[in-house]
Amino acid sequence: MNTKYKRILLKLSGESLMGEKQYGIDEKKLAEYAGQIKEIADMGIEIGIVIGGGNIFRGLSGTAQGFDRVKGDQMGMLATVINSLALSSALNSAGQKARVFTAINMYPIGEYYSKWKAIEAMQQGEIAIISGGTGNPFFTTDTGSALRGIEIEAEVMLKGTRVDGIYTADPEKDKSAVKFDKISYDEIYNRGLKVMDLTATTMCKENHLPIIVFDMDTPGNLKKVMSGENIGTLVY
Ligand code: UDP
Repeated sequence: MNTKYKRILLKLSGESLMGEKQYGIDEKKLAEYAGQIKEIADMGIEIGIVIGGGNIFRGLSGTAQGFDRVKGDQMGMLATVINSLALSSALNSAGQKARVFTAINMYPIGEYYSKWKAIEAMQQGEIAIISGGTGNPFFTTDTGSALRGIEIEAEVMLKGTRVDGIYTADPEKDKSAVKFDKISYDEIYNRGLKVMDLTATTMCKENHLPIIVFDMDTPGNLKKVMSGENIGTLVY
């Protein structure tokens, strides 16, 4: 099968792993994602993955509970490691090799991340799950995935969400919202759209990493995007 891309960075939010749950990880959702990811790995695509941690902990919400922001962010980064271990386990169960890298050295939970080790893993047919965000507080995993996507020389960053693209307004709140097939980085700024945080968007813009926002909750969609079907929104 023809694929449009040779190497990608897939960003999954922590919340997407919750499925129907209010907190934590839904094993069914995880297995479903693992199946979709294996499907495109079988097409020969090299895959790096960054997962968020919002299903477990967010630094900013921690400050509202009285936590120090830096400690809260460190808790959030650890949450991304938990999610990454869970996804690697689900991928292994689906018969797909995967390796967890960590932005902060915590061997043997994962391997200390370097661009070269991640690329080597992908070239050997293993999925590189790059956890721990950027390793620094005051950043998000959107920025972490922009950073890692640029570093590993991915051709595109895929942002799997529960919405099927970028709209003029939040389609879950505003019925008159219209979807974009594609949109420039600048238009995102100008319209004040909340696709990703501005740090992440700026990094992608400055380093020419296109983003595709698509609905990852419909099984088979990841493969469709990889085959070049225009089912989400392209940011260029
Ligand atoms: N985080 C951080 N630095 C990073 C990435 C993440 O401090 O480089 C922390 C931050 O507290 C954030 C939490 O980890 O709230 C979880 O990440 P994020 O909110 O991006 O997860 P998502 O919304 O994608 O589930």
